[in-house]
Amino acid sequence: MMAVPMQRRPFLALPALLLARPAPAQARLSVVASFSILADMARQIGGEHITLRAIAGPDVDAHGFQPRPSDAAALAGADVVIRNGLGFEGWLDRMIRSSGFRGRLVTTTEGLTPRMMQAHAHHGHDHGGSGRRQHHSVAARQTQDPHAWQDLRLAENYLRQIAAGLIATDPGGEALYRRNAEAYAARLATLDQWVRAEIAKVPPARRKIVTSHDAFGYFGDAYGVRFLAPQGVSTEAEPSAAEVGRLIRQIKAESITALFMENMTNPATLQRIAQETGLRVRGRLYADALSAEAGPAPTYEAMFRHNVSLMVPAMRGDAA
Ligand code: ZN
Repeated sequence: MMAVPMQRRPFLALPALLLARPAPAQARLSVVASFSILADMARQIGGEHITLRAIAGPDVDAHGFQPRPSDAAALAGADVVIRNGLGFEGWLDRMIRSSGFRGRLVTTTEGLTPRMMQAHAHHGHDHGGSGRRQHHSVAARQTQDPHAWQDLRLAENYLRQIAAGLIATDPGGEALYRRNAEAYAARLATLDQWVRAEIAKVPPARRKIVTSHDAFGYFGDAYGVRFLAPQGVSTEAEPSAAEVGRLIRQIKAESITALFMENMTNPATLQRIAQETGLRVRGRLYADALSAEAGPAPTYEAMFRHNVSLMVPAMRGDAA
């Protein structure tokens, strides 16, 4: 009974000004990330200092995403919003303009030189008539490839931008954010070396993979793998029959064996390619979204381990 008043006396003696200020542990930053991969990166760096919401969650296609009213409300109240940029989340830019968001906007690809690609570079032929996709206007011959997170070395730019945004908004957390970002960058550098060692197990001529859409261009440039896809860098346009037919002929001509679905795109075209080539789909690569917590790719690091573990035996043509 004596302990209670003894403990309360110094607390009550505190000046009102100090009492009105929340303790640092309670002043968690409200962070909204456009999609699950950026949310995981923010979680690794912000840890317990932030509350986090991913707008496009696990297994959700962030291309052409349709935000809900609750997403706009979360955005309006956020301290920090994290986006990829390079045209990946046009819907987010529209939301930011209309939501009254007044926090800090972090663009993780800021400072990177984007990979450019011809709208149809993966097919290398000029088609007209019924094969032309309405999605690509004449002016959009060159497209910025937004999928820079598929190169672990470019991810360092992502970490730097996220850490800088958190520090600028919450200077009191600087030591923690820096420590977490440095440890995270070190883990990603180790993972990058592992990816290179794994890819080296595949003869160079066999380093070819077919996936649903052009999500792995940066991966291909970084690790020396050629990716082919019936769909372009966005999932918003459907591939034409002529494009799919040409890809099927190329798979046969080059004896490609690595055929993959993606976790967040429609598998119909890939299943058709599998049927017509007699190939087996080798599983599901995580391209633009992580898996749920119980799945094989709940973090950015787990996504790389999962993807590469599937890619290597499939490229070699190992029986599974
Ligand atoms: Zn994509």
